[in-house]
Amino acid sequence: MGIRAVDTEASPGNLYRMLPSVNAVLLFESVEALLRVYPRDAVIHATQKLLGEIREEISSGDHSEETLSVRLAALSEAISNRLKRPLEFSLRSVINATGVVLHTNLGRAPLSRLALDRIVEVAGGYSNLELSLDSGERGSRDVHVESLLLSVLGEAANVPDFATTHRAIVVNNCAAATFLVLHSLARDKEVLVSRGELVEIGGGFRIPEILAESGAILKEVGTTNRTRIADYETALTPNTGLILRVHQSNFTMEGFVEKPSLEELVSLGRRAQVPVFVDQGTGLVRDSAPGPAITNEMTLTHGIAQECHLVAASGDKLLGGPQCGMIVGRKDLVDRIRRNPLFRTYRVDKLIYAALEATLATYSAHMPEQIPIVRMLHEPADRIRQRCEEVVAGIESLEVSATVVEVESVIGGGTAPKTRIKSYAVALRHKNGDAAAFLRALRRCDPPIIGRIENDQVILDLRTVEPHFDSHLINAVNSSFHLRRTASQSKPN
Ligand SMILES: *Cc1c(COP(=O)(O)O)cnc(C)c1O
Repeated sequence: MGIRAVDTEASPGNLYRMLPSVNAVLLFESVEALLRVYPRDAVIHATQKLLGEIREEISSGDHSEETLSVRLAALSEAISNRLKRPLEFSLRSVINATGVVLHTNLGRAPLSRLALDRIVEVAGGYSNLELSLDSGERGSRDVHVESLLLSVLGEAANVPDFATTHRAIVVNNCAAATFLVLHSLARDKEVLVSRGELVEIGGGFRIPEILAESGAILKEVGTTNRTRIADYETALTPNTGLILRVHQSNFTMEGFVEKPSLEELVSLGRRAQVPVFVDQGTGLVRDSAPGPAITNEMTLTHGIAQECHLVAASGDKLLGGPQCGMIVGRKDLVDRIRRNPLFRTYRVDKLIYAALEATLATYSAHMPEQIPIVRMLHEPADRIRQRCEEVVAGIESLEVSATVVEVESVIGGGTAPKTRIKSYAVALRHKNGDAAAFLRALRRCDPPIIGRIENDQVILDLRTVEPHFDSHLINAVNSSFHLRRTASQSKPN
């Protein structure tokens, strides 16, 4: 597939006329060979589908006469591929060349090798999900991660005995975790929240709405930009159920701003005997990361070390595990949450336990670099530049110019919006200019390549691309934009 041609002969009408009929395709020699292996209906269906797709490509202006002939020359091969893999999956793996490490639209955190292996092993057969292998009696699925999570957190926060004084449960995601905490502990009670923390996290998760749905009563404290500990103190009543701190994940405030430290909140909560609950979101276990601007406040360890009563975090944010929500807190409080009948409705599947246990085991073994996002966040910029240079050197298409440019990667996932990590990218420019069409053509590759546009060029930031995909990037560009330097040089006619 190419880029819109400037060639005026390539009016869509002419291009449509180049398309063969289904019957004509069935008479191709190579397609007749397929008919000997596959049912006729299947071959016809695959052919119709493909011709339909090509028609769409023409109507979106993606073809010149030249690129269309290339596409049509490969028609029987494409039909054969489709017959081998009859189902076009809707959910596909893609190459994330956006430089956004936790890209919500691209599924946030890729899982570690160990987590994937554990999913295959556990989900491919039966498991002791709810069976105690000791007693042979029914067990609880929570046990598979609870003690590991507590010991990893206790060690990282340097809180001895953490695993005996605290408990942990897992639900579908952090939004569910927050809701469940409020619903279990603060129904018909007042929850103190700073006006600066009444935020929308993304995907329509708004703190005031979640609070209202949970049956808790929102008691706003302070102002948007400044909230002091005294504001919380004067807002306390006998009906205060919780003090809620929401991590300002996806925005920052600057200037005349103030808020009490977590330590101050916890100390107030202790005096007033009101639990402090931190909706942390970003669930990085330890500061495994003195590298790229991940602050201590973004770690789960921070809340634990400050001895707040409850913390909720996402498994697929900075922890780099599967999508889930983790609630960690004082024993009596977590037990109340566990007894809430709604807990059952947020229960997670064995796949999640398998992947989460493996992710936590990796931290427990002090091997965080085996977690893909940790590796990506720490990849030195120089090494990325070197990979970019190799990709640029491999691009042979005469239609495309490729250079290496310095860019900035971001963490993403509504996390630390101001954090920028120096990186390098391959910048691609098509000779016909249209960067948006170029980007679209890259999305049509298999696997699709997702980049972004900057200064009218397509930018592929390699920080978020696993190195084994580098050669795929080269091949995809070379075969999508078929006028290769080598071909045209060796055949001057
Ligand atoms: C991301 C985030 C959430 C929501 O987490 P999900 O796992 O996506 O549901 C909640 N609170 C905070 C502070 C967050 O950053």
